[in-house]
Amino acid sequence: MHIDIITLFPHMFQGPFEEGILRRAREKGLLSIALHDLRAFGVGKHRQVDDVPYGGAPGMLLRPEPIVAAVESILDRPVFRGADTAVEVETLPPIILLTPQGRPLTQAVVKELARHDRLVLICGRYEGVDERVREFLVTDEISIGDYVLSGGELAAMVLVDAVTRVLPGALGYERGAEEDSFASGLLEGPQYTRPPEFRGRQVPDVLLSGHHERIAAWRRDQALKRTRERRPDLLEKRTSSEDPSSGE
Ligand code: SAM
Repeated sequence: MHIDIITLFPHMFQGPFEEGILRRAREKGLLSIALHDLRAFGVGKHRQVDDVPYGGAPGMLLRPEPIVAAVESILDRPVFRGADTAVEVETLPPIILLTPQGRPLTQAVVKELARHDRLVLICGRYEGVDERVREFLVTDEISIGDYVLSGGELAAMVLVDAVTRVLPGALGYERGAEEDSFASGLLEGPQYTRPPEFRGRQVPDVLLSGHHERIAAWRRDQALKRTRERRPDLLEKRTSSEDPSSGE
């Protein structure tokens, strides 16, 4: 998986991408990331990337030309679906704008994105981006939640982290992300490590029993219980083949 990220603040990515699973995925060759400074594609000698909105709204907006130039330079082909250019959208990698107005980033969307060889992420700033970027350049818009961040960089980091976890081999242990919350439509149940007793609180006996089937059944019951308590909406979405009552 190769991910291109277009941003005004490439330095923001240094810490998160150089630690833990992301670092290991890069070292193993499962993931490569290229950061592209939007400023380098700015307009004129001052490399301007933003301007005031027409109509007198407050704040600044990212202009379309630098963003389009950045994507066309990265992909080395026309991508703007303007009036006089033929663009084969089907052969493009997903060109994703991070925006609070996008479709919500869920584990299902994460898995869908992880199936691609390449993603291009565009981080907005200020009051957002010129509408023509949305209409004629991007092929997808993704939100990481119903709140407004100052820029798309943190959202891009969240997306990259979540996608990396589901790349085969990224977690470094066999089970992978299969039992994580949301993978099967449930929250993960409680987990314990050493010591077996801490300040009078015991680890449930079943987990110490060594009986794999009983442990698996307990985990499933606990996942259902936790999901029912905290996210009953998830149970409603599950298919009938995963009937929540079957684990009780
Ligand atoms: N004025 C815009 C609106 O109301 O939709 C919000 C602009 S926000 C201050 C600046 C940038 O942060 C956006 O262009 C987007 O790239 C990013 N951003 C903010 N919240 C986000 C979210 N929940 N998910 C993804 N990106 C977000």
